[in-house]
Amino acid sequence: MDKKQVAIVGAGVSGLLACKYRLSKGFHPIVFDTEPDIGGVWAKTIKTTTLQTPKTLYQFSDFPWPTSVTDVFPTGQQILDYLRSYATHFGLIPHIQFHSRVKGISYDGPSSETWSLWNGTGEPFPPEGKWNVTVESTQTAITQVYTVDFVILCLGRFRGFCDSMPGKIQGCSKHTGIPYRKRAR
Ligand SMILES: Cc1cc2nc3c(=O)[nH]c(=O)nc-3n(C[C@H](O)[C@H](O)[C@H](O)COP(=O)(O)OP(=O)(O)OC[C@H]3O[C@@H](n4cnc5c(N)ncnc54)[C@H](O)[C@@H]3O)c2cc1C
Repeated sequence: MDKKQVAIVGAGVSGLLACKYRLSKGFHPIVFDTEPDIGGVWAKTIKTTTLQTPKTLYQFSDFPWPTSVTDVFPTGQQILDYLRSYATHFGLIPHIQFHSRVKGISYDGPSSETWSLWNGTGEPFPPEGKWNVTVESTQTAITQVYTVDFVILCLGRFRGFCDSMPGKIQGCSKHTGIPYRKRAR
C-alpha cells in the first residue's frame, strides 16, 4: 500500500496525538517542532505550575496516568514525564524532527473547489496534488522542503505565553481566569 506522508507541525499534546493516530492508520507522519523536546507549553512552564484541570480529565484515553502520580493536579514536570512516556510507549519519538521551524506551507496541485474544503478538492488525498512544507533548522539555518500528502497544524494557542512569565507582561500570569501561582507549592 502507498504510505501517505503526513506532516504535523508541533510536538505538544495535540501533535503527539495526531502522530499516534496517523501511525495507527498506517500513514507515515513526520512531526516538526522548533523546540529540542516534546511537550509544547509543558516544556516551558515555570517550576511551580501545576495542572488546573483534575488529572482524570487531562489524560489520554488509552494511556492513564501512572499510579505513582497521586496528586489530583500534577506538576508541570509530572505532565512532561507523562507526555514523554506516552510518546515512548507509542513509538512516536523517531517520527519527530526537533529544532525544525516550519516557515511556509504551500499546495501544489489542482483545486477545483473553494478552499473551505480540504486541498481545495474536497478530498483529504486528491489523486494529484501535494503540500510543500518549508522547514528551517534552528541549529544550522538550513532550509529544506518536504513534500507530503497532508498537513496537520498543532501549533498551540499559547506560544510565547510561558516565555513571558513570570509577570513580564501584565495579565500574563492568568489563564482562563485562574491565577497560576495560586497553585504554586
Ligand atoms: C501555563 C499553562 C497551563 C495550562 N494548564 C492547562 C490545564 O490545566 N488544562 C488544560 O486543559 N489546558 C491547560 N493549558 C492549555 C495547554 O495549552 C493545552 O492543554 C495543551 O498542552 C496544548 O497543546 P498543543 O499541542 O495544542 O499546543 P502547544 O503545547 O502550544 O504545542 C505547540 C507546539 O507547536 C510548536 N510550533 C509552533 N509553531 C511552530 C512552527 N512554525 N514550526 C515548528 N513548530 C512549531 C511549538 O514549539 C510547540 O511545541 C495550559 C497552558 C499553559 C500555557
